[in-house]
Amino acid sequence: MNAQVRVTDALEWLGDLDQPLIISGPCSAESEEQVLTTAQKLKDSGKVHAYRAGVWKPRTRPNSFEGIGEKAFPWLKRVKQEVGLPVTIEVANAKHVELALENDIDILWIGARTTVNPFSVQEIADALKGVDVPVMIKNPINPDLALWIGAFERLNQAGIEKLVAIHRGFSSVNKEFRNAPNWEIPIELKTELPNVPLICDPSHIAGIRNKVALIAQKSMDLNFDGLMIESHINPDVALSDSQQQLSPDVLVELLNELKVRNQTSSCSEFQLNLEKLRSEIDVLDSEMIKILAHRFQLSEKIGDFKKDNNVSIFQLERWKQILQSRVDQATKQDISPAFVESMIKLIHDESIKIQTQIFQK
Ligand code: PEP
Ligand code: MN
Repeated sequence: MNAQVRVTDALEWLGDLDQPLIISGPCSAESEEQVLTTAQKLKDSGKVHAYRAGVWKPRTRPNSFEGIGEKAFPWLKRVKQEVGLPVTIEVANAKHVELALENDIDILWIGARTTVNPFSVQEIADALKGVDVPVMIKNPINPDLALWIGAFERLNQAGIEKLVAIHRGFSSVNKEFRNAPNWEIPIELKTELPNVPLICDPSHIAGIRNKVALIAQKSMDLNFDGLMIESHINPDVALSDSQQQLSPDVLVELLNELKVRNQTSSCSEFQLNLEKLRSEIDVLDSEMIKILAHRFQLSEKIGDFKKDNNVSIFQLERWKQILQSRVDQATKQDISPAFVESMIKLIHDESIKIQTQIFQK
């Protein structure tokens, strides 16, 4: 893809961060008291760098709480001035941007339902021309990496260089989590845009309180640069996302238990062992590729055979038997049957392509 996005040095604009960036606060600003008491608790913990609160809420169905709107700005001003935390809100259109800037919001974020729409992202980018404000971009609702990268490019073209990516999971029929994490997508984003700080929003992935810590830890294990976690002074009565918000006390507990991993270790024994294991992996990968090359040569031979005898490429019984026996073997060898199933499907697909080419010759 080869995306080019310029970014102001990582998170330096937020000050000296020797620990992961932690953003927390309620899903929605609801009342002055809720906004301020939550903010004060988070500030007192000494562990939170910025305060989030939704002012306008994108809800799936109408007639649910759609945010308090502009009334929240004076409350957020008090969070900035009296509590002493920078504040961030979601913007979904040019009007939101204008109001956020007028009201001195420190950081903007673009929500998943907005990133999915290039018209909306472009409208926001146009509204931000000539403004120096940090913008965080959540992944789009659907697992589409190009759309996520496109949003960075649009903002970047408008001159915004203080950018952060937020991984909040993807809409999915698999309901293990509210939003499927599809970790490979943020990993690909990091590969394509290595300079863009990447943080995780475990609240919207988990959807439920008791899974937030698991996802937060996983993102630390994958070397994410920070977390945005929803917290509410009284989560049970929250007007939006009540099931996934943590009380400030629970949030602090989670942060205390979080293990932050290092990029690497200078311990020479670690380095030596790692190198040894990695060279074994290199040998195995190379053998695997040789085996695959051999397997595809056999597919080719079979393709010739089938063509000469006017026999169809796809053979249902044989395919069912391949799939079942490989999955059974995976189970016996203690590797994930789902993984082996996907792998063998990929290989079978390639064999069909090879044989199709032979048939079309
Ligand atoms: C939110 O952060 O409260 C929110 C609406 O998130 P998302 O855009 O990830 O759904
Ligand atoms: Mn929310």
